[in-house]
Amino acid sequence: MQFVPFEKDIEVNGQTVYAIIDGMAAFKSIGKRFLLEAGIGEEVKGEYKIDPNGWYSHEMWLKAFERIAKEIGENTLYQIGIKIPKNAKFPPWVNNIENAIKSIDVAYHMNHRKNNVALFNQKTGEILEGIGHYGFEKVQGENMIISECNNPYPCSFDRGIITTMAKKFESTASILHDDSKPCRRKGKYSCTYTIRW
Ligand SMILES: [Zn+2]
Repeated sequence: MQFVPFEKDIEVNGQTVYAIIDGMAAFKSIGKRFLLEAGIGEEVKGEYKIDPNGWYSHEMWLKAFERIAKEIGENTLYQIGIKIPKNAKFPPWVNNIENAIKSIDVAYHMNHRKNNVALFNQKTGEILEGIGHYGFEKVQGENMIISECNNPYPCSFDRGIITTMAKKFESTASILHDDSKPCRRKGKYSCTYTIRW
């Protein structure tokens, strides 16, 4: 189900949060207002400030997404997703479409923490649970990946993230939402995307 956290006490880093503003283009001032009203960031002398190294409530960030969906529209969620790879931290080993898609789940956990502990341990490579996943399944013998995303972020936002990561290495890649599978927009817990190149 989109916009509803799986667990309490999850936080997201400020650098990632900034993607909302970056992705809202002409609506930047609305993005800032939604974030402020969700208690994320602060206004100093009329300027919106967010600490890129700070940590902010995942629950309230999701509420800001919900308002964007309701008051502005789905396409803006997609545009924010498109900007995520530019704003969030990604692992350094990404050099082709396969590991680019695989890296999304690692990056996702690098940029969230629970009870002050990062959900990705850089030293051991261990991923802790609490926020769901971005799936990766390579189809043997074909230039095709299936990504089942079971996390509380919205459907169109994830399509944006996957699109940017895929096109980074295969500019003609096509990224489709599999409409025959469950969809978070319909109250389900996952969405499935197919990436072909
Ligand atoms: Zn969906």
